[in-house]
Amino acid sequence: MATTLTPILTKFWDAPQSWTLATYEDNEGYQALNKALGMSQDDLVSMAKDSGLRGRGGAGFPTGMKWGFLPKPDGGPRYLVVNADESEPGTCKDIPLMMAAPHFLIEGVAITSFAIGCNHAFIYLRGEVVHVYRRLMRAVEEAYAAGHLGKNIHGSGFDLDVTVHAGAGAYICGEETALLDSLEGRRGQPRLKPPFPAVAGLYARPTVVNNVESIASVPPILLHGSDWFKAMGTEKSTGFGIFSLSGHVTRPGQYEAPMGITLRELVDMAGGIRDGHRLKFWTPGGSSTPIFTDAHWDVPLDFESVAAEGSMLGTRALQIFDETVSVVRAVSRWIDFYAHESCGKCTPCREGTFWLKQIMTRLEHGQGTQDDIDKLVDICDNILGRSFCALGDGATSPVTSAVKYFREEFEAGMHSPWWEAFPPERSVLF
Ligand code: NAD
Ligand code: SF4
Repeated sequence: MATTLTPILTKFWDAPQSWTLATYEDNEGYQALNKALGMSQDDLVSMAKDSGLRGRGGAGFPTGMKWGFLPKPDGGPRYLVVNADESEPGTCKDIPLMMAAPHFLIEGVAITSFAIGCNHAFIYLRGEVVHVYRRLMRAVEEAYAAGHLGKNIHGSGFDLDVTVHAGAGAYICGEETALLDSLEGRRGQPRLKPPFPAVAGLYARPTVVNNVESIASVPPILLHGSDWFKAMGTEKSTGFGIFSLSGHVTRPGQYEAPMGITLRELVDMAGGIRDGHRLKFWTPGGSSTPIFTDAHWDVPLDFESVAAEGSMLGTRALQIFDETVSVVRAVSRWIDFYAHESCGKCTPCREGTFWLKQIMTRLEHGQGTQDDIDKLVDICDNILGRSFCALGDGATSPVTSAVKYFREEFEAGMHSPWWEAFPPERSVLF
């Protein structure tokens, strides 16, 4: 049976003024917060655990378990920090969500803060998206004015302040501890873990860091119950998620569907691969996840199934490339990105991404040498598992997977530039 879409967070994105409090309240908005304020904190954490919700920022760590890691209250502050620094190449779900329906996030922030005993939450947004910053600020103002934030929320005695903070546009600030350093006013570079933020996070206090979509999913789960959520998806990857399709499909965009849906089903809904063309390769979860090919049309897009096929579900950023695209050119663009965004803290990533870039540039221009492919793989071996944070590991994924599936295109890079076999005018992407 074909899987269908499950519009929940995306349900009223097409409504006029979908981002306003009035539209949100017409769609059950802030009813979950009312319900939460009548529950105990323990029950809320149990509900999150029972739903099976896993982090939607890419790593898939169980959300309720993360809330449960906070130490017992000691009278000092504890924080919720929403990671809204969506920057993974191809990922475009949190930004559309915050533009179209920001109150899902704000209500989720209020519920989560109440559940973990936090009175000051932060939303850390990437710096380049000024329009999203304005929209979030306006929505936070609306929520304060309506009594959904601020002092004595809904007469419950619970107080919560929310600060929206815009970063300065560094990919590494999406790594949770670099984000915390940046929020504290320092240069954003990853911290050594453990301690995890749950124990020592913002200002060295217990902190929950969750992704936008994870937090926005909390109100519907609370309103409809964890069984309702678990009825969607698979046993270990429960619920729904927003899949962003970009590239060579007829109708790119965000498709909200149960976990475990396949690329074939999603591309069908997106009107197919563009006319007259066929799938060549794709990323299941952004460029930090190993690429897939047309052998993977029917892999269920849940954490376990994608991992079993040698990749990662990541952020469900499906970048789709047809046969007009040179894989060497695509990988080279991604490596430029990682080399540029490497924060420089550790040698394997700082030097390794720079070396990868040099070799990829040679291969792109048809000036590769006999041992360049072996060197690429060897450098990746020395970055993977030896880097300080996930950025280094992620940078190796497109290289090693592309060499595995398309070695002959890398070999061609020893004598002919990519544009001879893939004339750029045939591809709308590069
Ligand atoms: P991770 O697996 O190290 O951690 C995931 C989360 O679980 C973190 O919040 C961490 O604090 C928590 N955690 C893990 N073990 C814990 C423990 N023992 N105790 C307490 N908390 C614990 O992954 P990561 O490095 O945070 O993230 C990597 C992922 O980020 C990649 O899979 C990638 O898909 C994704 N990513 C997303 C974007 C984006 O734009 N959304 C950008 C780059 C990367
Ligand atoms: Fe910085 Fe890269 Fe090392 Fe991460 S892996 S700490 S981004 S140099």
